[in-house]
Amino acid sequence: MAFSLKGVAYITGAGSGIGQYAAYAMARQGVRSFALLDRNPVTRTVQHLKKTYPDVNIKEFEMDVADEAAVNHSVEQTVKEFGRLDYALNNAGIGSALKTTDQIEKADFERVMSVNTTGVWLCQRAQIRQMLKQDKWSDSYRSYRGSIVNTASMYGKVGPTLNVPATAYATSKHAVVGLTKADAIAMAPRGIKINAICPGYVLTPLVEGTMDKGSVMDDERVKVPVQRFASMEEIGDVIAFLHSDASSYVVGSALVADGGFTIQ
Ligand code: NAD
Repeated sequence: MAFSLKGVAYITGAGSGIGQYAAYAMARQGVRSFALLDRNPVTRTVQHLKKTYPDVNIKEFEMDVADEAAVNHSVEQTVKEFGRLDYALNNAGIGSALKTTDQIEKADFERVMSVNTTGVWLCQRAQIRQMLKQDKWSDSYRSYRGSIVNTASMYGKVGPTLNVPATAYATSKHAVVGLTKADAIAMAPRGIKINAICPGYVLTPLVEGTMDKGSVMDDERVKVPVQRFASMEEIGDVIAFLHSDASSYVVGSALVADGGFTIQ
C-alpha cells in the first residue's frame, strides 16, 4: 500500500542526523506541521523544509529532553499552535564513551541514561497524556489517536561488539526497547500505536568523520552483510512507514534496520 501522512509531527533531536532526515521523510509523505526540538538550533532542518515545502509550519524548541518542565511545555505549546499531536519521534540521543563497566564513572553513565532513556520516557509520557485526549484521525479501523516511534539502536537488541564496548549506550537503548514494549501493550487498547526503530550504523556526519582513518568504524563496516552503513534517508523512510497506516498492525515492535548486522 502506498501511504501518506497528514497531521502534526513532533521530533526530538531534529537538528541533525536521523531526526533531520526523518523530518524530511515525513514531509515527503505529506506532513506540513512540525514541532522540532533539539538542544542545538534546528536551523538547517527548518531552512531545508521551508525551501522545499513553502506551505510548511514549524515551531522550534531549543531544549534538553531530560528537562521535565521543558518537555511538558513543548507538548503544550505544540498543541496550542497546531491543535493536536499525531506523530512523535523520540530520537534525541548521545553516544557513550567506549568503556566497560569497570572503566566508566557514575556521572558519565547517568548522563547517557538521563538523555537516552529518561528523556524518551519524559517525552513519551507527555505525548501519551496528550494523545489520550484527542480523537482518532479517521473512522478507519487502521487509525489511531496518535503514533509514537522511539529511536533505539541495534545495541538495544544485542550487546555491543568487543570492538565497541559502549556499555552505557547499550544499557540505555535496551531500556528504550523495554519502555516501548511496556507502553505499547498498555496503550494499544487505548488507541495509541508505539514502536521503536533499531538502526545499525548510520552514516551521520559524526560517523562519516571517523571513516577511512583507520578507526574502529572501518572494522565495523566490513561486518555489515550489505557491506555499507545506512544512509540517513533509509532510516527516515522506515520511521515514516512506522508512523503510517501501512504499519497499522505493527505494535510494540523494535524494528531492526541494520543491513543484517545482527542476523547472527
Ligand atoms: P546526531 O548527533 O546527528 O543527532 C542527535 C541530535 O540529538 C543532535 O542534533 C543533538 O543536538 C540532539 N540531542 C542530543 N542530546 C540532546 C538532549 N539532551 N536534548 C535535546 N537534543 C539533544 O546523531 P544521530 O546519529 O542522528 O542520532 C539520533 C538517534 O539515533 C540517537 O538516539 C542515536 O543513539 C540513534 N542511533 C544512531 C545511530 C548511528 O549510527 N548514527 C545508530 C543507531 C541509533
